[in-house]
Amino acid sequence: MKIAVLKETAPGERRVAASPETVKKFTALGATVAVEEGAGHAAAIADEVYREAGAQVSPLAETAQGAGIVMGVQAPDVLSLAGAGEGALVAATFDPFGQRDRVDAYAKAGFEALALELMPRITRAQSMDVLSSQSNLSGYKAVMAAANEYGRAFPMMMTAAGTVQAARVFVMGVGVAGLQAIATAKRLGAQVSATDVRPETAEQIASLGAKAVFAEGLEAAGEGGYAAELTDEQKAKQAELVSGHIAKQDIVITTALIPGRAAPRLVSDKQIAAMKPGSVIFDLAVAQGGNVEGSQPDELVERHGVTLMGYANTPSHLAADSSALFSRNLYNFLSAFWDEEAGGPVLDEEIGNAVRLTRGGAVVSERLLQS
Ligand code: NAD
Repeated sequence: MKIAVLKETAPGERRVAASPETVKKFTALGATVAVEEGAGHAAAIADEVYREAGAQVSPLAETAQGAGIVMGVQAPDVLSLAGAGEGALVAATFDPFGQRDRVDAYAKAGFEALALELMPRITRAQSMDVLSSQSNLSGYKAVMAAANEYGRAFPMMMTAAGTVQAARVFVMGVGVAGLQAIATAKRLGAQVSATDVRPETAEQIASLGAKAVFAEGLEAAGEGGYAAELTDEQKAKQAELVSGHIAKQDIVITTALIPGRAAPRLVSDKQIAAMKPGSVIFDLAVAQGGNVEGSQPDELVERHGVTLMGYANTPSHLAADSSALFSRNLYNFLSAFWDEEAGGPVLDEEIGNAVRLTRGGAVVSERLLQS
């Protein structure tokens, strides 16, 4: 079985889908791994290091040639897979609901597209879950980036010249990214509060030493541990809660997402106007439509003296760590189903049906076909 790892081509994408560690592990399973020249460069992995780990390092066409599995961070353009084996597995993130054309092109080319972001949230798939591994690092990076833009310190400091007050940080949306944002802001010495629409997060917030701020009766737990969309009445309740709290905050980190929908709007321009000048809002959902009115991907926007910021691709800003974790997720996924006789992975129904977008020339994903 030949596994190909291509250099990512999406603008701003610095990650890579295999690390020297996973190259060694796949080789130990009996596969050969081919890595495109320069694939790891932006994640600080030199071609030489892949070679030392046992990979063949070659130009694109040679890398894809005859591959039975292609691994990517973002799914490659189907044209770059021209030489790959018939029906090859392509395991990557596909943004299937946003980029349906690409899924159709994969079906037409006869590849078996496996969308890693559709991995079910079940215990045995936790180590395969790229959304979790990347969100965790994103939560950390959001706080660091916001702290960098903030013209004051995070911890309280008592100095001979006077006292510096601790920053007040408010985290909105307490999933994987939000929990890491809370932990990071606490480590930096900030006073942290957080909110969500899933009631079980209140305990998680408290366990990290932060204050849970919840509107009474506001609950919108959806399926699979995710949130559901709020009703108009609930939205009004949330807006009231946010307006009262946000005016006293220095830093706001928003992380709210609802699967298959645009990110919910959590902070309006009017609420931003109530904040102190010099405050910073980092919108982690900016690439999915944004939680904050006026935020723009990869831009610093100033509104009413408040800086709004957010990255189009946050994990790419810590490419070395995010690549290492993404690569392990991919290895954990493919190796869990490795079948010696078949010489490659044979997926089971529960996980296979959840992640498989295309097979045998057709789109087969129920979720995608129903959307
Ligand atoms: P997510 O990225 O989908 O959303 C981020 C957070 O935003 C969520 O906590 C959500 O409740 C919240 N949110 C949505 N709308 C909101 C609103 N209007 N106001 C405030 N907050 C809002 O979430 P996630 O990080 O993917 O985590 C979702 C759940 O899945 C969590 O319970 C997490 O622990 C769980 N999880 C399970 C596994 C597993 O078992 N394999 C893996 C990862 C995550």
